[in-house]
Amino acid sequence: MNTTLTLTAPIAGWLMPLDDVPDPAFAGRMLGDGAAIDPTGSLLCAPCDGVVTLLADTRHAVTVKSESGIEILLHVGIDTVRLRGEGFVAHTHAGARVRRGDPLLELDLDRLARGAASLVTPVVAAGDTPHRVSALRSDGLVHAGEAFLEIVRIDEARGSDPAATTPDAVVTVVVAQEHGLHARPAARIARRSREYRARVVVSAHGRRAQAGSTIELMALGAARGDTLTLEAFGPDAATAVRGLAGEIGTGEGGPVRESVGRAAEPAGGNGPVRELVGAVASRGIAVGIAQQLAAPELAVDEQGREPGRERAALAAAREVARGRLQALAGTAGGDVLAAQAELLDDPGLLALADTAIGEGKSAGFAWRWATREAGARLLGTGSTLLAERAADLEDVARQVLIALTGREPAAPALPDAAIVLAAELLPSELGRLDLGKVAGLCTAGGGPTSHVALVAASLGIPAVVGAGPGVLGIPDGARVLLDAEAGRLHVEPGGDALVRAERSIAERRTRQARLLAAAARECETADGCRIEMFANLASVAEAEHAVRSGAEGCGLLRTELLFQQRRRAPTVDEQAREYQAIADALAPRPLVIRLLDVGGDKPIPCLPLPREDNPLLGLRGLRVGFRHPEILRGQLAAILRTEIPGGRRVLLPMVNEPGDIRRVRELLAEAGAAADRAGRVLLGAMIETPASVALADSLAREADFLSIGSNDLAQYTLALDRTHPELGAAFDHLHPALLRQIAAVVAAAGERSVSVCGALASDRAAVPVLIGLGVRTLSAVPNAIPELKALIRTLTVAECEVLAAAALAEDDAHGVRRVLAAASRNPA
Ligand code: PEP
Ligand code: MG
Repeated sequence: MNTTLTLTAPIAGWLMPLDDVPDPAFAGRMLGDGAAIDPTGSLLCAPCDGVVTLLADTRHAVTVKSESGIEILLHVGIDTVRLRGEGFVAHTHAGARVRRGDPLLELDLDRLARGAASLVTPVVAAGDTPHRVSALRSDGLVHAGEAFLEIVRIDEARGSDPAATTPDAVVTVVVAQEHGLHARPAARIARRSREYRARVVVSAHGRRAQAGSTIELMALGAARGDTLTLEAFGPDAATAVRGLAGEIGTGEGGPVRESVGRAAEPAGGNGPVRELVGAVASRGIAVGIAQQLAAPELAVDEQGREPGRERAALAAAREVARGRLQALAGTAGGDVLAAQAELLDDPGLLALADTAIGEGKSAGFAWRWATREAGARLLGTGSTLLAERAADLEDVARQVLIALTGREPAAPALPDAAIVLAAELLPSELGRLDLGKVAGLCTAGGGPTSHVALVAASLGIPAVVGAGPGVLGIPDGARVLLDAEAGRLHVEPGGDALVRAERSIAERRTRQARLLAAAARECETADGCRIEMFANLASVAEAEHAVRSGAEGCGLLRTELLFQQRRRAPTVDEQAREYQAIADALAPRPLVIRLLDVGGDKPIPCLPLPREDNPLLGLRGLRVGFRHPEILRGQLAAILRTEIPGGRRVLLPMVNEPGDIRRVRELLAEAGAAADRAGRVLLGAMIETPASVALADSLAREADFLSIGSNDLAQYTLALDRTHPELGAAFDHLHPALLRQIAAVVAAAGERSVSVCGALASDRAAVPVLIGLGVRTLSAVPNAIPELKALIRTLTVAECEVLAAAALAEDDAHGVRRVLAAASRNPA
């Protein structure tokens, strides 16, 4: 029989859904489901009766195991492990029996707020016991001791644990993580362990933990440099211990030592699975029917004919493949397929294939070998971005083999509402599917920036990638629930989960339809202040999507994509064609084209830049253009050929001083003279360095408009790499230091238009503050526009100004978020 546990709030504060926790591990439910509280009180109490099963040495996390066996994790703040116990006083100890409301920890909120990225405290049901969580309340102020969550323990028949006492494989590994096995790495290991059929036990310091339990792993108290023993029992034991050891011992932690490896590996797949966890590539929820999409291998003869004939056959097949890719480019993912066509001419690939043909191999055999060899090299770089290009290579290989063999496997017939499952989904395969029947996608491999992920996002199809080999074991026809909000795929979900998912899908649809219906209208606040809502774009497909989403034009066209996808820089003609196609898709709406902004975290293959110790402070943005003026001249010439309603507007990236704008004006004059089209071009300066903020008044005199790039401005103001894998939680663009800079820029700009085009403009929480600071033009990601417009219509400038003043008075981002959460409202 199912038992219900009611949790009372362990601390007073503001309730929020886990989705809003500024930590992907909690927001993605990697540690369990529940809710979070942004504390206003300072005493953390037991949310139920039970036993304290863990009190972290650093006292930032406590777990209480209820009588029904559910473990509740209370994790005070985000990244608080690094405070090493400072700011916490423990009133309990591991093993203590507690009653609901008993004090567990006392918090020094001031100390914690100074040292932690956020004080938001997730309260989640963790552990292995099957359960379901439902929120009694999901927002507003909650008092300590007030009921807020309900957890139903689901007592279902479970496979009994193997009774084996002798492990089938054992390894020892040294912990590499800086702060040991704290919540995030423990969750990662637990998640990974569920990919294997073997049961894995991890031991250290005389304690043992099931690898599938985050809580038990945390309770090991393993610090960096400690040696752990991993014992696995079951069919894929050897793979499991190696995989998990890699997760624990990556980095400088030291080598993995294998002592036993006896388990026989079963052939293929990981058997039946119920839930898989991966990365969200395109948000949304879908319920549908599983359909595997295995691409059958195309047979080719190894031995070739006379090399000249094989070379000619390969050249002809590459041309056929190019035509096919160009034709498919008109359907889905055009930009991606155009980039793939480039690979057909890659000299490295061609040289490899040529060598194999010279050794007597057939064109098909040689081409397949060359693409696999090149793919293996990409995978070997360890770069996820490059690894994702390996899938493109495979796709290109396939197109040529289809042309060579003249055999094209039929596209699979899809059931209605198909959830398409694949090892990797190739963009050309996606283009061949009947998209009207695709409700969602889930792949075993791939990453959220892989091309198929980008295509899925632009088509609005929910997608989860990198969900592991278990994806391939799901039988065709199984009912699946794809939760591409939490990054999960549930196989044959329970009735309750289905009902909840169907309800959430219906609600989303209704809400989205309501927002979209109103999105086309011009945007103004409730008291009649006009706010221009533009879109950030990179391609024609996005421009079309932006128009459907209610964008009033494009405030930032990132031209990088056009260069990133090519081995050689695009010609002036190619650029002009692309810019014109985007302008036409937007017409009669305006278009702001930003000059190439590469370098730093945005490399491009067609312009190799020297290795730099500090690339973010090196060749980036305009500096690259000034070093390679032919690129700027080409871009400006292409822009001069483009007819844009309302005139040509060009945005300059990484401007530091007015001289930067004057240099571009000179290049523009040269390009204009060369093209004999000296039409007036408005030049705008991106404000994204502290220097440009300090000189905003001079820049406003030199430029025609200003646009604040909040992503880089936050990065350079906080001296924090915006892509840093570990400091992500501390990178908060709502930092008051950034807000004060925006206020200063608006004041310095006088009559000049100031827009915001960084991610801040797409952040629902930030938009009222921006309006309060005097910003009247926003450029956001297309998907955010309907909701932002609806939100703006509910605001008055006066209330935004009060909010902005309160935000400016805070002394960290946490304080700003607290002020905003208190005033937040949900449109529609
Ligand atoms: C920014 O820095 O905020 C910006 C819009 O430019 P990008 O993100 O392309 O660097
Ligand atoms: Mg920038």
